[in-house]
This record gives sequence, structure tokens and C-alpha cells, in this order.
Amino acid sequence: MVDEAASPRESMHYDVVIVGAGPAGLAAAIRLKQLDDEISVVVVEKGSEVGAHILSGAVIDPIGLDRLTPDWRQDPDRPLKTEVTKDRFLLLGPSSGVTLPNWIMPRLMSNHGNFIGSLGATTRWLAGRAEALGVEIYPGFAAAEALYGERGEIVGVATGDMGVSRDGKHKASFTRGMELRGKYTFIAEGARGSLAKQIIARYRLEEGREPQKYGIGLKEIWEVDPAKFKPGLVQHTFGWPLGRGSSGGSFIYHYDARLVAVGFVVHLNYVNPTLSPFDEFQRFKTHPMIVDTFLGGKRLAYGARAISSGGWQSTPKLVFPGGALIGCAAGFVNFARIKGSHNAILSGMIAAEKAHEALGAGRAGDELTAYEDAWRTSDIGRDLYKVRNVKPLWSRFGLALGVGLGGLDMWINELFGLSPFGTLKHGKPDYATLKPINAVTPIIYPKPDGCVSFDKPSSVFLSNTNHEEDQPVHLRLRDPDIPIRINLPEYGEPARLYCPAGVYEVVYGDEKARLDPRFVINAQNCVHCKTCDIKDPAQNIDWTTPEGGGGPNYQNM
Ligand SMILES: Cc1cc2nc3c(=O)[nH]c(=O)nc-3n(C[C@H](O)[C@H](O)[C@H](O)COP(=O)(O)OP(=O)(O)OC[C@H]3O[C@@H](n4cnc5c(N)ncnc54)[C@H](O)[C@@H]3O)c2cc1C
Ligand code: SF4
Repeated sequence: MVDEAASPRESMHYDVVIVGAGPAGLAAAIRLKQLDDEISVVVVEKGSEVGAHILSGAVIDPIGLDRLTPDWRQDPDRPLKTEVTKDRFLLLGPSSGVTLPNWIMPRLMSNHGNFIGSLGATTRWLAGRAEALGVEIYPGFAAAEALYGERGEIVGVATGDMGVSRDGKHKASFTRGMELRGKYTFIAEGARGSLAKQIIARYRLEEGREPQKYGIGLKEIWEVDPAKFKPGLVQHTFGWPLGRGSSGGSFIYHYDARLVAVGFVVHLNYVNPTLSPFDEFQRFKTHPMIVDTFLGGKRLAYGARAISSGGWQSTPKLVFPGGALIGCAAGFVNFARIKGSHNAILSGMIAAEKAHEALGAGRAGDELTAYEDAWRTSDIGRDLYKVRNVKPLWSRFGLALGVGLGGLDMWINELFGLSPFGTLKHGKPDYATLKPINAVTPIIYPKPDGCVSFDKPSSVFLSNTNHEEDQPVHLRLRDPDIPIRINLPEYGEPARLYCPAGVYEVVYGDEKARLDPRFVINAQNCVHCKTCDIKDPAQNIDWTTPEGGGGPNYQNM
């Protein structure tokens, strides 16, 4: 071990620094270069390659790609080749279900004209376009810290140091992080970004807004029996297996060559601390109206990621001195459509256009207020405004009445451009919704069958997750005693269950008598979904960036 004092970091200077090579970050980078190829742009990405940390459905509304790269449909290497041919909505009970007629669904829920594919593959394709325009992209580097100037403005980011041991010492491989300094910095980290969280708090960007809401989305990719493959089919369900006090639903998309993306989203305002989103997903696949698709098929991939769902009323102020939040770092998902990638692209484009104007006027380090002013009247605002009450109605009135009222509200919005409910509040943040464990009926899950339902270890294996083991734990507890002193007696320590990767465990010195409990963090399994940062009832867990390149290695999620 080499234990040297940290040397000063080297710095590189750009016009615009972008954190995150998702659709938002890459769209911003491409748009800046389209507007002026002299503008210098850098993108840092914590995944080992672009797309490695991207997880989405994905049915993609092409509005963003059409605007950003109008020729994409002619590109033989385009990532989205399966056009939606059929929409199906099912309401499931425990052993049966009903197919809802398409005519009762508001028009905005229709997926015709949309494309099914992998958002990870789409970002890799966008990265190619960006690099061809001269954007510098550095995968394998996590932006660990925001850099502040003398006036309190953001002046860039620093990537994390590499080669630090678990106890904080510098190993022989120690390499100091780099400073990437920019006139403007765009935070494009996706849902619950670690820098976004600090920046939102520092500049009070959420003041006067509703709390951001989230779901955890779990996803698998299957190669199915050719007889079961229906290219272009998009199917959504709600209802079973989720019971009272929880909500969410599934998606099943058939695309490319015999691939089926199956996923399940559990809204993180659930109340029962014994709920396990992973196990809800696994038993969903065993439903008699669902299971057949997977029999005779092969599961290829697994992963999980938080999805924002607060929409219109939860969107924070987007700008701060020296930068802006773009994409799902701001939370631009249309909850009813389960779509956000089109808005991520559009927001990156608007922010880029406003930064281009500012740079042209010789400005730097100030607020891009024109971006803030533009979004609510843009296509993003129009998309989110119409569905703003769907989530609050569902949370308030439960499945049958809530979904019905949400549907009616979308119809009225669509036909008359208004809502009888005005703009509803979301209420409590997701971390504050759990009931004490002794006030709920524990949920008992069936054992996985190893055929269509699986356990966590074999699932995490399919996410190709890998972290350098000898590094500081990136899941930081503000108070290390809270899990055992408060969360365990009060809620049964729900992290054991909501984490989709089995990172958190409670182990007992005396297993039989349940004595001497200890909280264990298997940080190397973390798939970077950010659920613990959102749902911990004590808000005691801070997800921070591990060494760059660590985390899942999704191929085409
Ligand atoms: C289960 C699920 C299903 C979904 N289905 C759909 C769908 O069908 N259609 C649709 O349009 N949308 C869907 N969405 C939403 C969609 O995925 C998001 O709206 C979209 O990915 C947001 O794009 P983004 O660029 O803002 O963030 P992301 O796509 O999350 O990209 C952020 C990038 O930033 C990187 N990053 C984060 N922090 C750092 C850091 N500190 N340093 C360096 N890099 C960092 C990440 O590794 C990642 O590559 C779904 C989401 C989920 C979870
Ligand atoms: S530790 Fe947190 S971020 Fe990592 S997989 Fe578990 S819940 Fe997700």
C-alpha cells in the first residue's frame, strides 16, 4: 500500500461538461455540436462503456430522435427496428384477468408509431453520432464531486480517485481523479442522480414543488420459443400480484429476433415493509395469462433501475448558477405512458440550444433561465401536463377507482385541455409511506421454480455486475446504527427486501435465537438502481459513486 497525501488534480477545460451518457446527456452533446462545432463538449459516464448502466423498457416515442437525428430511420445500423403493431392492456386478478378494450384507453396511451428496442443500444448509437461530431466521451469515469467557483456557481465536476482501499488508503494503483471544468455543466445522471441530489439540496431546487416520486423497475430479457413470439406486441398489465397499499404494473414487449423484454414497476410509495419488488416481479411471471410466453424460452439478462414518476408538479427548478438538470435527473417521465427517453432527448436539446445562445453572448457560469422558462410550454410540458393527476389519483384511490379516474381525467384533458381536479398533490415522499411491521400482514412469497421465476443471486449474475472489491463502500450510512437500532424493530429493515440485488442483509450472531443482529452491505452486488437512496425510511443511505467502470454491465437493456 502506498499512503500518500492526495496530490492536486489535473484539470481540463471545456465549454460544456455533461455528466451521464444517457439519452439526455448525449442529445445535449450532439445538439451543441450541431449548432456550433467549435463548442468543446465532454461527457463522462460511470458505466464501463456507454449503455452499460442504461436500463429501460423500452417502447420509444420517436419524437426526440426525429428532431435530433432526422435521418435515423434510414440508417441501416439504427438501434430501433421493431415498430409497435399491437397494444394490449390487461387487468389481472390472482388466477384470471380481463383484456381492456383499446377504445377506452385515452389516445395518448396508444403506442402506434412508437418503436421497441433497447435504450442501451440506442445510447451506444447516439454516442457514435456524438463522437463523429467531435464530442469527447469518457466511459469508466464517474463524476464524484461537483466543483464550485468563487460566486458559488458550478464550474465543473471531478471524477473519482481510483485505487483507494476499503479503509481509505491509497493502493499502488492509486490514480487521482481529473477536474473537468466547463462554462456550463449539465447533470444528466438519470433518476435520483448522486450529484443531482446534492445540487438540488444546495440550490433548493425543489422548493415549492411536490416531492419527486419514484418506482423501482425490474427487467429481464428473454429469448422466447418462436411460436410465442409476436413481433411488435406491447402489453401492459396492472392489478395482481400487487395488493392493497401498493401499486404498479408490468410491461412485456416483443422485438428484434425473438426477444421479449419483461418488466415490473412497483411504485415506491408502497406501505408494507415486507413487500419485495423482486419477488412481486418473479411471481407476476407465473400468472396463468402470462406464463405461457416464457415456457420453453431462455432468460438472458436481468437488471433494475429506479424510474421517476412525479411528473409536472414534481419537476424541480432546472437551472442553477453554471448548469442545468436534464432528462430524468429532473424527472421527465410521463407516468401514464411509462416513457421518459423522448423527453430526456428533448430536454437535452433545449438545454443545449440555450447554452449555445449564452456562450454566443460571451456568458458563463450563470443560470440558463431561458431553459427553465422554455420547458413547460415545450413538447415536454405538453406531454407531462395532460397526465399530471394520474399518479396522485392512483395513490389516493387505489387500483379500481384510481385508475378509472385517471383514465377519465386523461380523456377530459385530451378533449377539453383541462382537468376537473386542477393539479393534485402527490403527498408524502416515498421514504415516509411505510407502516410499522407490526401493523401489517407479512407478505409470504412462493419459492422460485427455476423455470420462469428465479432467486436474486442467479438474477444478479445475469446483470454482469462487477466492482473492485477493495474500495470504500459506496453505499454510505449517515448513522451506522440506524439499520439495527431503528429500521429492524420498526420495519424489519426493509432494505433486505427492496434492494433488487441482495446488497443488504441482517445477519445474527446467534441465528436460532435471533440475537446479535448485524447489518451487512454487499456493495459489490449493487446494480446502481438507487432504490435504497430513495426508500430508506430514515433517509440514512447515500448512494455515492464507486470507482468508475464498476456496476452492472448491461449489454442491451
Ligand atoms: C424499468 C423502466 C422501464 C422504462 N420504460 C421506458 C420506455 O418503455 N420508454 C421510455 O421512453 N422510457 C422508459 N423508461 C424511462 C427511461 O429509461 C428514462 O426516462 C431515460 O432513461 C432517462 O434518460 P436520462 O438520459 O435522463 O438518464 P439515464 O438513461 O438513466 O442515463 C443516465 C446515465 O448517466 C450515467 N451516470 C449517472 N450518474 C453518473 C455520474 N455521477 N458520473 C458519470 N455517469 C453517471 C449513468 O450510468 C447513465 O448511463 C423506463 C425506465 C425504467 C427504469
Ligand atoms: S444497494 Fe441500493 S442502489 Fe444498489 S442495487 Fe441495492 S437498492 Fe439498488
